[in-house]
Amino acid sequence: MANLRFNVVERAFKKRPLNVDVPTTRPSEYYGKLVFNRKRMYKYLPVDVYEKLVDVIDNGSRLDRSIADAVAKGMKQWALEHGVTHYTHWFQPLTEGTAEKHDAFVEHDGKGGMVEDFSGKLLVQQEPDASSFPNGGIRNTFEARGYSAWDPTSPVFIIDDTLCIPTIFISYTGEALDYKAPLLKSLRAINNAATEVCQYFNPDVKQVHVNLGWEQEYFLVDEDLFFARPDLVLTGRTLMGHDSAKNQQMDDHYFGTIPERVQAYMQDLEIESLRLGIPVKTRHNEVAPGQFELAPIFEECNLAVDHNMLLMSLMKKIAHKHSFRVLLHEKPFDGINGSGKHNNWSLTTDTGILLHRNGKTPEDNLRFVVFIVETLMGVYKHNGLLKASVMSATNDHRLGANEAPPAIISSFLGTQLTDLLDHIELADKEALFNLAGKQGMKLDIPEIPELLIDNTDRNRTSPFAFTGNRFEFRAVGSEANCASAMIVLNTAVAEALTNFKTRVDTLIANGEDKASAILDVIREDIKTCKPIRFDGNGYSDEWKEEATKRGLDCESSCPLCFDRYLDEDAVRMFETMNVMAKNELEARNEVKWETYTKRIQIEARVIGDLAMNHIIPVATEYQTLLAKNVKSMIEIFGREEGKDLTERNISIIKEIADRTKIIETDVEELVNARKVANKIECQREKAIAYHDTVTPKMEEIRYHIDKLELVVSNELWTLPKYRELLFIR
Ligand code: ADP
Ligand code: MG
Repeated sequence: MANLRFNVVERAFKKRPLNVDVPTTRPSEYYGKLVFNRKRMYKYLPVDVYEKLVDVIDNGSRLDRSIADAVAKGMKQWALEHGVTHYTHWFQPLTEGTAEKHDAFVEHDGKGGMVEDFSGKLLVQQEPDASSFPNGGIRNTFEARGYSAWDPTSPVFIIDDTLCIPTIFISYTGEALDYKAPLLKSLRAINNAATEVCQYFNPDVKQVHVNLGWEQEYFLVDEDLFFARPDLVLTGRTLMGHDSAKNQQMDDHYFGTIPERVQAYMQDLEIESLRLGIPVKTRHNEVAPGQFELAPIFEECNLAVDHNMLLMSLMKKIAHKHSFRVLLHEKPFDGINGSGKHNNWSLTTDTGILLHRNGKTPEDNLRFVVFIVETLMGVYKHNGLLKASVMSATNDHRLGANEAPPAIISSFLGTQLTDLLDHIELADKEALFNLAGKQGMKLDIPEIPELLIDNTDRNRTSPFAFTGNRFEFRAVGSEANCASAMIVLNTAVAEALTNFKTRVDTLIANGEDKASAILDVIREDIKTCKPIRFDGNGYSDEWKEEATKRGLDCESSCPLCFDRYLDEDAVRMFETMNVMAKNELEARNEVKWETYTKRIQIEARVIGDLAMNHIIPVATEYQTLLAKNVKSMIEIFGREEGKDLTERNISIIKEIADRTKIIETDVEELVNARKVANKIECQREKAIAYHDTVTPKMEEIRYHIDKLELVVSNELWTLPKYRELLFIR
């Protein structure tokens, strides 16, 4: 076995960068080549069908089923021209990742032959065999099957020989079994709420869209080394492994050049992404060795989410081609930075106003302040829920690990914006606002210099930072579906904006002037949401204390964080905003707890297995070698001198004996803890038991294994070490 490690290291060393097939045309020409975008729709659809479809996409009008056949026909023609033979409904079940079931275009032609066929009916709706997707009991209770339904707002695309149709996935009784259905509803909620508030300032605004620009962090590991680590293969992270002597202390990876094999991988990935219409733009090394980042230009939120899901599957596929494995796990390696997925979020009107950007006139700035403050209101009121939306068995290792946002949601605004809000809150109302006779309204809202706001000081410890013209939600996990966080954020802000409008309208109905009413309410809200504002060091212990005092959610146990979804406030918010009903929230929580348990269960099995079958045998083998040495030294030098000369070996023999004994006992206890937890019926209680009793044991086992790695001969050690996993590429 020990040879396997040296063999794979040797093989990995010899690998050269792959030659990438670079298209001869410019990126702007092959961008979106594999997407049925507007240009293609126009070309392949009859004009009236095209117009109806664009109306559905742009204005959210209902899809007229009568155009479905014509759309399907156009899509099929385009797809066949690209050599496509199959189609699939592509959806996002509650497990991470995407799901698809491929069907060929063929149908009987009635004359004993086959024809390529694709009807509107098949485009619009399908019944994938849904029994294997998690549903939290919804389908059992309602005895209904799930079906997938076309989302016309996200264009279909081609992967290899298959036409992929983005769809929602719901039960027959209408409950969402996926991420996309509630995401679309949350987008509608915030569109409605934000448009109404916008109309106080700009009556011509008809729609407000959510922008999302994600930044995807990931690790690359050589594929041969990967396969020699059963923990990586089975759990996506290393369950053991001592720190490499050198890791990220020097920051040399972050600023260094991109390694050649990685460069080729990135280039390949970018070309494929662009063909699929993902507007990738930025690539660079990240802080940890072996860690990288990729970011596109921001897009409409629903499309951006789909593109991120698509990108994650492309990353895996292309990594394999380059003999790499991509690790999307939030914390593949202990002791160095983990990976996140920053979600840059903002709102734009259909008239092109970026609502989270400061304006030039006092009125524009008042609107800007309203959208900033109401965003903060939503985040403040539902800070625990927002944390729950990014919590998972895997992201749990990253949040609060002093390298990523802490497990407390707060918002950094920077000095400029802080001063502005303080001014509005504290200034005399008369001074802020007066009706200066014929000159009309005068608002003393200081203008923020463009340059300064663009250079907002960056506070890397803040989970929800204002970065000039958007908020950056940094607690999202690298492996997660962005939609989970976006559903909560959109809905929370939609609720805040709705409440804001109700209160302003009441004041107006009571005879107050509009601008004055807006100022009154906003001044009140600035005070209310103040506890969420924090510009200091989020990693410090003082912050934990302070946050507790402020009443922010400081829960760090993942299964308990999920409780926030079922709080009265949360249920009311989701229901009044028409995003999800209580039974859906309950069902989804069942899935979350179950998923949590399963992941820890697998990890616990793997670490137990590795400890007993890899670590202890190797350690014992080395111990026997040392014992032989001691024995022969005593034979040569006599008992006293022999012992004296082999003092170090004797102490290692003892250390190995002590540690293997502890490991054995721990593994036994781990198995017992699992047995006890497995008997628990309630998913929530079971997940809590796994969190409280299983994970601490795993950490203890790991501790002793890592210590053994330091003393056992390198020659004998079977698992590739951190320095090999992280530095060979
Ligand atoms: P960073 O400096 O944090 O690395 P970048 O400038 O690379 O950030 O941008 C990160 C992401 O934020 C990109 O996807 C970018 O398109 C996106 N972004 C920029 N402006 C906005 C905005 N107003 N709303 C949403 N996303 C935005
Ligand atoms: Mg960023």
